[in-house]
This record gives sequence, structure tokens and C-alpha cells, in this order.
Amino acid sequence: MADPRETPAMQQYFRFKRQHPGCILLFRMGDFYEMFDEDAVTVSKALGLTLTQRTAGVPMAGMPFHQLEVYLRRLIQQGFRVAVCDQIQDARQAKGLVARAVTRVITPGTLVDEALVSDEAPATLAAILFTGDGEDSPASLAIAEVSTGSFILADCGPGAIVDELARRSVRELLFAQPADGKTPGRVKRILDALALSATPRPAWAFRHAEARDVLLKHFGVATLAGYGLREDDPAIGAAGALVHYLLETQTAGPEETAQREPGMKVRTATLAHLAAPRREDPSGFCQIDAPALRALEIERTVRGQGIDGSLLGLFLATGSGGCRTAMGKRLIREWLVRPLADLELIRARQQAVGVFVEDRRAAVHVAAQLDLVNDVARIAGRVALGRATPRDLIALARSIATIPTLLAVIDSTPALAPQRARLDSVRDHLCPIAEEVTGRCVEEAPAHLREGGLFRDGIDAELDEARLLQRDAGSWLAMYQERLAREHELPGLKVGYNRVFGYYIELSAAQARAFDGRADGGRGTGLLRKQTLKNAERFTTAELREFESKVMTAEARAIEREQMLFQHLCDRITARLAEIAVLAQSLSELDALLAFAERAIRRGWRCPEVVDEPVLTIHAGRHPVLEDLLGSGFVPNDVELGPAGGLALITGPNMAGKSTFIRQTALNVLLAHAGSYIPADRATIGLTDRIFTRVGADDALHAGQSTFMVEMTETASILHHATARSLVVLDEIGRGTSTLDGLSLAWAITEHLAGGTGRARRGSPRTLFATHYHELTDLEDRYPARILNLHVEVREWPPGDPHAQIIFLHRILPGRTDQSYGIHVAKLAGLPAGVIERAREVLASLAVHHAGAPDPIQAAASPAAPDAQMSLFTEYLAHPAIDRLREIKIDELSPIQAFDALRALKSIVENPRADAARPAGR
Ligand code: ADP
Repeated sequence: MADPRETPAMQQYFRFKRQHPGCILLFRMGDFYEMFDEDAVTVSKALGLTLTQRTAGVPMAGMPFHQLEVYLRRLIQQGFRVAVCDQIQDARQAKGLVARAVTRVITPGTLVDEALVSDEAPATLAAILFTGDGEDSPASLAIAEVSTGSFILADCGPGAIVDELARRSVRELLFAQPADGKTPGRVKRILDALALSATPRPAWAFRHAEARDVLLKHFGVATLAGYGLREDDPAIGAAGALVHYLLETQTAGPEETAQREPGMKVRTATLAHLAAPRREDPSGFCQIDAPALRALEIERTVRGQGIDGSLLGLFLATGSGGCRTAMGKRLIREWLVRPLADLELIRARQQAVGVFVEDRRAAVHVAAQLDLVNDVARIAGRVALGRATPRDLIALARSIATIPTLLAVIDSTPALAPQRARLDSVRDHLCPIAEEVTGRCVEEAPAHLREGGLFRDGIDAELDEARLLQRDAGSWLAMYQERLAREHELPGLKVGYNRVFGYYIELSAAQARAFDGRADGGRGTGLLRKQTLKNAERFTTAELREFESKVMTAEARAIEREQMLFQHLCDRITARLAEIAVLAQSLSELDALLAFAERAIRRGWRCPEVVDEPVLTIHAGRHPVLEDLLGSGFVPNDVELGPAGGLALITGPNMAGKSTFIRQTALNVLLAHAGSYIPADRATIGLTDRIFTRVGADDALHAGQSTFMVEMTETASILHHATARSLVVLDEIGRGTSTLDGLSLAWAITEHLAGGTGRARRGSPRTLFATHYHELTDLEDRYPARILNLHVEVREWPPGDPHAQIIFLHRILPGRTDQSYGIHVAKLAGLPAGVIERAREVLASLAVHHAGAPDPIQAAASPAAPDAQMSLFTEYLAHPAIDRLREIKIDELSPIQAFDALRALKSIVENPRADAARPAGR
């Protein structure tokens, strides 16, 4: 028996399979997409499809073609890459094997179809080119969002690569595959830190000359200088490799175009919507690194990983003042993960938000228009890539139609001048397209063009005719019959149809004889004899034959005609992609500004004053997310850090509100830099270059590293990089090691950040440090100008009772806390009463106080006494010998007793266990 893998179709299949390694290949066969071999086995397991066999020994699984999007979504969600191989030729016109081509390659970083992308989050692709040989070398990144066409270049130091990829929501990373075919260690480390898929690419695609050629050709330019790229710029390698990959996966490959045959549909996909690469200057933004993004729960919560409960979530909730468009949602996300660090720009954005806060009428009108707006950025992308749907065109037209009204509403507001200017500049180019779409297409457009139904009647003669034939074949035939009968004076003439002979003209046998008896034998009538029956003769005419073929193909022709008209509209749109990008920008900005304003109105947020000096004053500040949950139950707090930096140490029991306080401060600084109003009565916030956080590590996110190691790595990065313009937020340092180690580290770190050794050159950052080590509060005495103690107020009830309950007041006050109330909190948490009681006893026996001792801090602070012990260490020196020493009353001892006591002490020191084993009370 012939090898089932040798059939022409299977050979074709294997050819595509080889061209797309690493992809599941969906192979169109009639009404199904089929998978074979390994693919069939893997996918049937992953998606629960039935596994069959094409022929013995060739496993096969498939899905109906119209279900493709559903299955694609599931495949992509499960991390597969998929190549879709379509029939690009009408099977009836094929001589032998139907021509097929891979029409889409869908990878995690190149999603564009509406069903596959989420509204809020960009699905971004990046290419990385390391610019040095070492493991720790810097890199050039090219980052593109295929669905909207944004294209950005960034140069990153080794420590900033992961942050940049996280901030940009990169889902797929292209890297140059080394000759040994292995994934390089420095790429592996990125994959360990971020959940993204890595795609090896041939190394030549990253080579300067090749990459440069790809870029010059794609953008149709003679030099890349216009994009701010030097001749030898390493960014060219990354950018070229990225464009090359996109051309390969998203547009018609060379093979497909070369083998064109009659009846083949060749894709019209282009990357026309891809913007020219733009290099972003990181100094224009307040940087928030990956740990801070996570810890401050900016995009998602740490626990649930959802948007609800995150800072971003506040501005997305539809129906409660959140963004109204998907574009606005994505933009506000970008504003929050990349806040500004430029006073002018921040103030301009604040003023624009202010317009909508002050002028509620304008806000309502703009909101009403934005409700009509769709995701024009992504629609433009789909048009360029040849994947637009009829509904996309209608939605685009509706969105464009809002321009005149929007312009009228924001006409007299100087703060919205940039948005207005942009809308104004594209109006005359886009409105005619919208009118054309609305004029030609029905309002309720079909989801796809497979059955037509998008274009109105009366806008295209050919389409009308095709439809008329389809709908009115019956009445045409009646008209024709009547006309023939009249013209040829054959009153009994009938026009009929049957499946075998098609359309015919029938005369009864008697009439046929009369017809034949005419002078010209009936030739003048154009009737041609077709069939002789017992009682009748059947004829046809050239016109009827033409009608027949027209009717037969009318439906196909109508659909084809609609597809042509659709393509025409798409071409019109493609010619205006640049203008649509400008429109998208304007609409998304209005939407995001409005969302900021709505939040400000709803929650009484105020406009912070952002200044150049590194200060931080917030009066009655609240946590933006918690206040939403707790309403007026949230206790507002103040913070004030001096102009020369300043470090606030916040102490207080667990659950008192320390973390909330430091996070709300960081979030408010961030919001201020994003140009938003903030939840506070009044605030002056100095321009901030970076927000650093070090808060409880999430072990799951750092598989393979100990919590303490993560903690110290993050702290090291802060100590190395924080400047006098940074904000540092620390929540408990040194917990992952022994108390003494931890305390010592926390002590040294605090000193360093507050401007102790080594920081003088860069100045000290504004720092908030929440800690349960209340020993650290002694540092305020040592650096009174730089360190400030704050504590969270709690009340004991009844006061002074050893078994008192504690009440959290969540109020931050100056000064230090005197105890940590850990046992109180444990009691609240429901620890068994016996355990609580025993803990109290142990605490009492451990507590060692030095009421009358000279202040060891002062001693430690004196440079003359470098070896002096600090109280924090002596407090922990619990030793039985010391206890015994304390018990000794020297005045009452005789010399011999003193000698005995000394001997006993020495023996305790040499053999402490013996002492511990002695019965208590001796
Ligand atoms: P800590 O860091 O001191 O252990 P948290 O900041 O985690 O405490 O706060 C514990 C809980 O107290 C929070 O979940 C929150 O519900 C509540 N809380 C904190 N700060 C406030 C506040 N200012 N007003 C009202 N409730 C608060």
C-alpha cells in the first residue's frame, strides 16, 4: 500500500509544516481545518478534540472552518503558536491540488483579531539585541504593538531590560539564535523573570546591514537619520529583525505571490499601519520598575492577578466614570505605568483634566460622543493587515463622525488645544470616508462577508443586477415570457425551468408547427430548438442562456462584487492610516483625561502642585483604591518630607496601617506625575525621577530564589540607583534572616538612605520606611535633621490592662511607638488562648530594660568610641550569667562569698546548660 504520507496533499502539508517550525499548522481541507501527526495528538489533548486517523497511521483532528476564531483563542491562551493554512484558490478551478498558503501566523506577540486581544492590555512584540558580549551587557529593544502599529525603540542598561519589557506588556521576545541553537543565558534570565514567550530568529536578521535594508525598504526611505537613528546605531539591528518577523508572519510571503494562478485570492495584508520607529528618552518619564509595578498593584493585584482592585482598575470600570473606549483604557494604563517627569507636560495634563472637572457640560458632551467611538487604532491595524470585518468599517465610520461635534464642544478650551488641533487636522481627510461608508453600507452590518449583505441596494449597478437576479428570477422570467409572446405573436409561449435542462422556452406542438411554417422558418425570432417532447417543443435564446448563467452565478457574483467594493473601501482607508492614528491619539487622550476628571469629581480628588524641588507634602491623603472600598471609613493622613530629602520611619503594630500609608503615598506621587488629581486635600510634590519599592516579596514570582535573597537584591538596586529626586518606599527590611542580622541590615540601610556614608554625592531620596523594628527609631536622635519618626496610633482597651484589646485608629502621628503589640494582633487573629497566655509569660521573661543605663546610641554616635555597643544589640544579650550577675547584691557579700559567686559565674559561662538545668529559684 502506498505511504499515506506520500499523497500530494500531505506533501503540501509537510512543506508548510517545515516552513513554520514551532507552530501548530491548521490545514484547510474543504469545510474543516485539519491537524495531523504530533499536532493532532497534542491539540486534541489540549482542547478536547476527537482524535481520528486520516488513513491508517496518520493521526488527525479538525475543527469546522467557521469555528476557527474560537479554537484560535483557546490555542493562544494555552501558549501555542499557530499557522493557518488556507485554500487560496476555488477548489473547482484547481487543476489537481488546490493552491494553499499560510495566510496568518498567530503568535502571542502579534495578536490583532478582535476576538483574540483584550481591550485594556496591549499585546506587544519585542526584539532584543544585546550590545555587548558579557552576560551583563546592555541591550537595544525594538517594541511594537501590531494591532495598533505603535513602534518604539529603547536602549536599556542590563538592569532595566526586564523593567522595560514588563512596563510595555511584552508577550513575545525575538532573539538571535546562536549557532549552537541553544537559548542564551541572558535571554533565559529574562524568561525566568517574566511570563513571555521567546522566539528564536536567525542571527542574520539582527545583523546591521540586513536589518538596515529591511527598514529602508519597508519604510521607503533612503536613510534612517530621520528616525533619529545613527548610521551605526545598534537599535537598527533590533528594529530590522522585528520588521522582518512581522513581514514574514503577517503579510503575504514571496512564495504565495509568486505562484499566482487564475482564481487565486492573494492576501492584501500590508504593514502600512506600522508607525515609523520612535526612540523614547527615558529621562522624560518617572521610572517605575517591575517590582514597584507589582508591589503597588498598579496594573493588577498581587493576589488575584486581576485588574479589579488595582490602581488601573479605578479608571477602567465602565459605568462608574471609567474610560469609555478601549483606546482610552490602554492609554491610561500607559500613563500610569510611565508617568511623566517633565513639569510642563504634567501641568498641561493637569489643566486638561481641570477642563472636565470645571466644565461639567463639556464633560457630558464629550462623554456622549466617546460612547459612540470604537477602537479605531486596532481597526486601522486590521484594515492594513487585510483582516477587517464589515462591522469594523461601520464602527470606524461612526467614530469618525464624532469629530465635528467633539470639535464644537472643545472649541474654546485652550487646555485642550493639542487634542483640538489634531482632530481639526484630520477632519477633512476622514469625514468623506465615513460618509462614503455610511452612504454605501447598511447600518446593521454582518459579522463577515462570507454571505455578503454589507452594501446597500442602489449604490452599484452590477451588485444591484446580481441581487435582482437572485431575488427576482421569477418575475424576470414572467416579464421575459410576456415580452417574447408579444414580440413574436406566440400567445401560448411559456418560459420554464427544470433541473436537468435549465431554463427553456416551450411551445405546444401545434404552435411549434405554426412557428416552423413562418416565412423565415422562425429564425427571425432568435429561438433555437433545444428539445423535442411528445406534445411540445423546447427552445432557448442567447438572452435566456445569458440569463441562466447570470442567475447561476448571481449569488457568487454578488458576494464577489461586495468583496470588491469592500476592498475598495479598505483601500481608501489604508490611504489614510496616518490620519486615523492621529484621530485615535486624540480620542484616547480625551477619554483618559475624562476618566481622570470623573474620578476627581466622584471622590473629591484635588490637583496637586508639582514642583521642581524634591519635597513631598500631602495633607489628608488617602489610598486611592482603599478609599473606594471603605468610603468615609478611610482615615486620611498627612505626610511631610523635608526639602533636603528626608526619611520617615513608620512604626506601629501589624495591621495598624503602615503599609497602606506608605503605598498610598507612593501611589499619590505616581498619580501626580501621570497628570491626575489625587485623593488628598492639598499636596506639593517634587518632581520624581523614580519610584522604588521594597515590599514583601511574592515567592511564587521568584521561583528558585530565597525570599531573603530577593529582598536584598531589590534593596541593593535601590541603594545603587536612588537619587535625590527618587522616592523610596520600604516595607519591612531584614525579615528573612535572624533578628540580629535583620536589624543590623535595616539599621545600616536606613543610615545609608538618610544620607550617611556614601550617599553625599547623589543626595538622599525621599524615603518612607515602615518597620516593626522599633529599635530603629533611635536613629531619629542620631540624625535629627534627616530622619523623622512617625507611628500609627493604636489604643489599648481598657487602658493599662495586661489583657487589653487593641483598637486600630489608622492615624499616623509624629513620634515612635513603644511596643509592637504582636501578641495583641495574634490574639485578634484567633490564636488559642493558651498560646497567647504563654507568649505573654515568655515576653515578660525576655524583656530586658536598661532604665538607668547611659545612652549607648550617644556612645555609638561618637566617632571617639567606635567600638561602643549600641542598645539594640545589648537588649538582645540575654544570658543566664547576666541574670545571675544582676541578682548579686555586692554590699551584702563577704569576700569569700564574692569569690564563690565569681566562680559560679565562670562555670555558667563555661557550661551554660548546667545552669539552665538547675531548678528555678536557686
Ligand atoms: P500594616 O502594614 O501596619 O500591617 P496595613 O497597612 O496592611 O497594616 O493595614 C491593615 C488594614 O487596616 C488594611 O487592610 C485596611 O483595611 C486597614 N487600614 C489601613 N489604613 C487605613 C486607614 N487609613 N483608614 C482605614 N483603614 C485602614
